[in-house]
Amino acid sequence: MPIYDYKCNACQHTFEENHSMSAPAIKTCPQCNEDKVRKVLSTGGVLNSIKNGDSGTSAPCGPMGGGGCAGGACPM
Ligand SMILES: [Zn+2]
Repeated sequence: MPIYDYKCNACQHTFEENHSMSAPAIKTCPQCNEDKVRKVLSTGGVLNSIKNGDSGTSAPCGPMGGGGCAGGACPM
């Protein structure tokens, strides 16, 4: 299930929603109820978790987190 980031242009509230791609986009801000919510492009939870770092065992490179770097072949 993809994660979408939304931002309200009225109150600048940002939030994330999980919903299927076929579901309609959210338009109403849960905070101020204005119809000013925009979907913003998200890096997704995977990249966020890498950026925030330190999940411990996951490899430092590769978006899938591990596996590719196991043999020391990582160019990083
Ligand atoms: Zn709002």
